[in-house]
Amino acid sequence: MRLSASVLLVSVAAGCVTTPMPAPTPQPVAAATQAPRPKLVPPTVRLPDGARPTGYQLALTVIPGKDTFSGTITATLVVDRPLEVIWLNATDLKPTAATVRVGDQTITATTEVFGEHFLAIVPSRTVPVGQHTLTVSWTGALSRKDNDGLFQLKEGDEWYAYTTFEPIDARRAFPHFDEPQFKVPWELSLTVRQGDVALANNPVLSETPVEGGLKVVRFKKTLPLPSYLVAFAVGPFEFVDAGQHGQKKTPVRIVVPKGQTGEAAFAAKVSGPILEQLEGWFGTPYPYEKLDQISLPVGIGAMENPGLVTYGHQLILSKPEVDTPGRQRSFAGVCTHELAHQWFGDLVTMAFWDDLWLNEAFATWMTPRILEKWQPTWGQDVAQVNRRHSALGADSLVSSRRIRQPIVSNDDIANAFDGITYSKGASVIGMFEAYVGREVFQKGVRAYLSKYAFGNATATDFLGAISEAAGKDVATPFRTFLDQPGAPLITFSLTCPGPKAPVVVALEQKRSLPVGSTGDAAQQWQVPVCVRFSVNGKVDRACTLLTEKKAELVLDAAKGRCPDWLLPNDGYDGYYRAALAGKTSLTEVFKKAGVKLTLPERAGLLGDVSSLVRSGDVDLSQALEVAELASKATDRYVLGYALGLASIPGGELLPEALRPRHEAWVRQLFGVKQKALGLAPKPDEDEDTRLLRPGLIGTLGWNGKDVALQQQAKGLTEAWLKDRKGIHPDVLDTVLMLASETGDPALHTKLLDAAKVEADRADRGRLLGALAEFSDAALVRGQLPLVLTDTFDTREAMRLLWGAAGDFRTRAQALEFLKANWDAIIAKLPKDAGAGLVWLAAGVCDESKRDDVRAFFDGRSTKYLGGPRSFAQAMEGIDLCIAWRARQRPSAVAFFEKQKATVEKPR
Ligand SMILES: [Zn+2]
Repeated sequence: MRLSASVLLVSVAAGCVTTPMPAPTPQPVAAATQAPRPKLVPPTVRLPDGARPTGYQLALTVIPGKDTFSGTITATLVVDRPLEVIWLNATDLKPTAATVRVGDQTITATTEVFGEHFLAIVPSRTVPVGQHTLTVSWTGALSRKDNDGLFQLKEGDEWYAYTTFEPIDARRAFPHFDEPQFKVPWELSLTVRQGDVALANNPVLSETPVEGGLKVVRFKKTLPLPSYLVAFAVGPFEFVDAGQHGQKKTPVRIVVPKGQTGEAAFAAKVSGPILEQLEGWFGTPYPYEKLDQISLPVGIGAMENPGLVTYGHQLILSKPEVDTPGRQRSFAGVCTHELAHQWFGDLVTMAFWDDLWLNEAFATWMTPRILEKWQPTWGQDVAQVNRRHSALGADSLVSSRRIRQPIVSNDDIANAFDGITYSKGASVIGMFEAYVGREVFQKGVRAYLSKYAFGNATATDFLGAISEAAGKDVATPFRTFLDQPGAPLITFSLTCPGPKAPVVVALEQKRSLPVGSTGDAAQQWQVPVCVRFSVNGKVDRACTLLTEKKAELVLDAAKGRCPDWLLPNDGYDGYYRAALAGKTSLTEVFKKAGVKLTLPERAGLLGDVSSLVRSGDVDLSQALEVAELASKATDRYVLGYALGLASIPGGELLPEALRPRHEAWVRQLFGVKQKALGLAPKPDEDEDTRLLRPGLIGTLGWNGKDVALQQQAKGLTEAWLKDRKGIHPDVLDTVLMLASETGDPALHTKLLDAAKVEADRADRGRLLGALAEFSDAALVRGQLPLVLTDTFDTREAMRLLWGAAGDFRTRAQALEFLKANWDAIIAKLPKDAGAGLVWLAAGVCDESKRDDVRAFFDGRSTKYLGGPRSFAQAMEGIDLCIAWRARQRPSAVAFFEKQKATVEKPR
């Protein structure tokens, strides 16, 4: 649809693409001859209408290691009303020249920067309606501390430049119309050192040597792309060929910094097969010409730039001798997510950031759809239940966003990248996929992608396509989840009036809110509800669409007989919390239904129990009984929930005198299992057992305070410091951190000395992670200043501060350090990192400290992009924690007072 824009790309000012920078020759800025300047009122969030681009030619000179870069952009424009000013987005760029070409005339223009996001181009005369070109040149700083925009970093002895533009950081590299609906072809050229490799979304068209030891690398014109998906990288990269894959035999490569090709084997093995699985599901080929997957030495995320997908190095690379199933599965999951974006987001792009869920919720939902077929043993069904569980937790905050939150400020754009968009969005999609049936849903998705290919779309477009495929209105119930925050808590009351009379389940919904919440429970949704039940051992299901506050669901298949048990969320596809009214508790369902429940259902049930404890609807002591039951499970998923439930009374919840009882209880529940598994896998051990081991060690070590295990961890750590084969990679991070948690000054010195000379980023990260776990006050006080020195990159050293803030014994020290050094820390961190620092206080759960925390962060973290909502959420979390502790402490105390302290002696 929007492809037609490319035909407008004509009569572009010559020379700006092929000539090395600075190019073209800057036109004189015509301030002296200009007509009186109109009064300029900058936009607030979005650019005004009147001009839109139909294509860009972008030329940049990027020399990694230098402090600045420069560029020239030529935009072909459609101007649909006479303009005295053209507004562009630009951040921290210094414009050096600007002209507008109207027919065969070149109009000079002045430029003025407005605030952080806008650049006014003021031509010396009014630009008439028509098709024109706008050319702007600029210089900018090539940042050494940022992870977004165009930035550089040193790996080994070499400097590399990378880009990360989503959502609004492309404007830090070049001035342009930085909104996703401007989806147009890009012709990029990079002037780089002759010895460097230059990469971009598309393959190289030509390389031309120029003066000064440089070369101009021109790339093939792209398909229509929004600017946030434009990407390039410059440096002495090396490649691992991953073959040609899929319907168009797309060439796939893994791109790494010099000397790291030996770490890309797994990524090279799985990227192509994942691409092929996705093509199979979508029924259409990968839309772009090549697929480079590039390692980014900082950051932990990934970015779906078409043809040049970036991944944090820990995700995509690992030395084979320390690789683990956990790391490999993480990469496969993220790779599937990023490659799903090539359709959801890249091929069809949201019209604006309020519909980010059309990108992120879909790529998140798609990941298990692909993995469950490609790797059926990876437990993707349980992974979906876990994801739903975490989303419901985030959604219980009053300060939670909607999936489709209106964008009234740039903060809203930054906040859109949260668990609500990703995990709630994916869970809601999964619920409606189950509601209409998987095949129907797939048909709807395919129709939507085909209709809006290479263009933009909105929620209405998508929901229309699904409703059409389903032959019923899906949009109305779906929107009740899309356009309001929160999630329903549905209470199920089973009535068995007697023989032959219909068995009825009464349903009643309200908003699920935790104890202490100030939220209004009187919200309603239209919820697809399915229950499962058993009558005399025969299992059946019943479904309805709950559209009102109350409704009744008749269990026809029960034929008048009272069910033995009722599971209130069949398959746990429903995005709602469930509570059973009357005497039957979820615990009893867990006991009675037992193996008749699927693994995801058992996980879902345990998740609901944990949430009801959080909401105050269930006593913590009940959840601890469930933990005892679940600790007998043999699968790692149910055991994982058992470990989680058993850890709830850790930290400060119990009075000090009772803490040893909790620790002993944890050892009783899990000690035998952990000892049997040991600290390293046995030969030919299955992956599930390997993945369970670190969690067991962690829970026994931290919550069980198992002294023997702590000693073992210290011994292994000493061995590892001498020989990096001393700890099995599966448990490496866990063992290092456990050793440090009770570590002495001698161990601290050894770890710190090792970290200072460690050249490998992964090992340096591990060592800093271990240092972050020390709980000794003097050691923590001594190491926090490393955040401010140049011993480590501050982005890496911040782990020390996060570690201290995450432990109630050292939290006060961490917050004091932050308060004393706020400005100095901010100065060393990436732009806008200040917004997230409020989460350092997230563990505070004490009325006496709350106001102090609020007073400090209000006006500080709130100044940065996304800061106000993060601040509100962190503060709400503190209030809820205080209320929760007051509600559940008596129950926990009663539980552990009843416990016989049989194993109070540490073992
Ligand atoms: Zn994504």
